[in-house]
Amino acid sequence: MKKLSLIAIAVVSAVFLIIGCTNKNNTNPQMNQEKTLNKEVLTSDKQASLSPEQILQNLKEGNERFVNNNLTPRDYQAQVKATTDGQYPEAVVISCIDSRVPVEQVFDKGVGDIFVARVAGNFVNEDILGSTEYGTAVAGSKVIVVMGHKSCGAVKAAIDDVQMGNITAMLSKIKPAVEMTADYDGEQSTDNDDYVTEVVKNNVNHTIEQMREDSPMIAELERNGDVVIAGAFYDLETGKVTFLD
Ligand SMILES: [Zn+2]
Repeated sequence: MKKLSLIAIAVVSAVFLIIGCTNKNNTNPQMNQEKTLNKEVLTSDKQASLSPEQILQNLKEGNERFVNNNLTPRDYQAQVKATTDGQYPEAVVISCIDSRVPVEQVFDKGVGDIFVARVAGNFVNEDILGSTEYGTAVAGSKVIVVMGHKSCGAVKAAIDDVQMGNITAMLSKIKPAVEMTADYDGEQSTDNDDYVTEVVKNNVNHTIEQMREDSPMIAELERNGDVVIAGAFYDLETGKVTFLD
């Protein structure tokens, strides 16, 4: 009898222990969260199956999630491991260096999803074009986004003809956009937000034209429909990206 009681106590204790552990796991928010983190990354097959139009749609929907404060929770370490042996990004984004334009977050993208080339004033030179040719012709991205942003300091400095160290030469790449806006009807100064925005948009268009001229490789990819080049404008006040025509 005594032996049986001991066995019964042991069994009951074990059951409580198991229930205790299970409950603990269920109520642990970190463990529950881990189950919903996105671990998926772009693969060669996924990249090949996406059309430029679908990629643009993905970027627009990602930006909508950013604007609505609804970014995809990601298991970044799982994505790091999953992309160690290769990358198959869907797009190249050429952006300003402005710290208020966090490109991956702006489009709700994770590890291995997009190439990002950044330079103050988002213009192209030999190096940015070489990087973009690599991203498209070699690594298979099918969309190039040139993204300017509201109140761009580099564009303002080009308007104000700032002369300072290496900044002077850099601004000369943005000046054509100031010239393109010469017929702007209104106050042509950095005090006028609308005017600055107009120059920013002209700078995006100028960058795209420059890309077509100086990269026969990208121009051909675009002609063949293998790559789509899109201009975009990021609003610092809302986080919203507007694609330009
Ligand atoms: Zn800027």
